[in-house]
Amino acid sequence: MLQTADRQGPWLTVVSGPMFAGKSEFLIALYRNLTEGRGRESEYIGVYKHALDKRYGEGEIVSHAGKRLPATPVGSAEELYTRIRSRGERVVLVDEGQFFLDADSDGRYVLVRVVSHLLGRGVWVVVAGLDKDFRGFPFGPMADLLALADERISLFARCAVCGAPATLTQRLVDGKPARVDDPLLLVGAEEAYEPRCRRCHRVEGDPQDARTTLFGFRAPDVSNPLTSG
Ligand SMILES: [Zn+2]
Repeated sequence: MLQTADRQGPWLTVVSGPMFAGKSEFLIALYRNLTEGRGRESEYIGVYKHALDKRYGEGEIVSHAGKRLPATPVGSAEELYTRIRSRGERVVLVDEGQFFLDADSDGRYVLVRVVSHLLGRGVWVVVAGLDKDFRGFPFGPMADLLALADERISLFARCAVCGAPATLTQRLVDGKPARVDDPLLLVGAEEAYEPRCRRCHRVEGDPQDARTTLFGFRAPDVSNPLTSG
């Protein structure tokens, strides 16, 4: 029995880690515990995943170990919210949270606003996803969700090179490490991924360039009262 299975909303659980760490496996086990172990009514539990994840099936979450759970694919955070509201679900499991990259006009991730609304309505929200992209940078809305979470479940895999605990996802293109200025999402490209530890993780190019110029991770310009005259 998962300890996590007895939470009550409003509550935000974020399950994060690299690829092959067992995030989908965790969601599937949690769902089984909620419906079989604790007798929760399954119609009050929603299971969703971002439609961009088509690794196995459109309408289900499939773990790398081959376990399956029916899930509603959604293309945006707005669509996620609309469906949850219309169904009146009280517990919501969302897989592939990092793919909800849609932002509103002031540049904030819509998924973060949606999760805040759901918490305001007393929902227990569980979001699983990659906390870091292939370069090791915060992946989309996951960083904000981790900061807002009531509970963080941090999973790791085994490094494909040395066997140490792996917290990063290595992207390989034609067997070589991807470049730091490669697109964040490659759809249908010939790339492969494997879990790696920090010591073995490789990115071609200068990460500082991408961090400050391509993706706007620069900290806001706020003067420090301790140092400014
Ligand atoms: Zn390693």
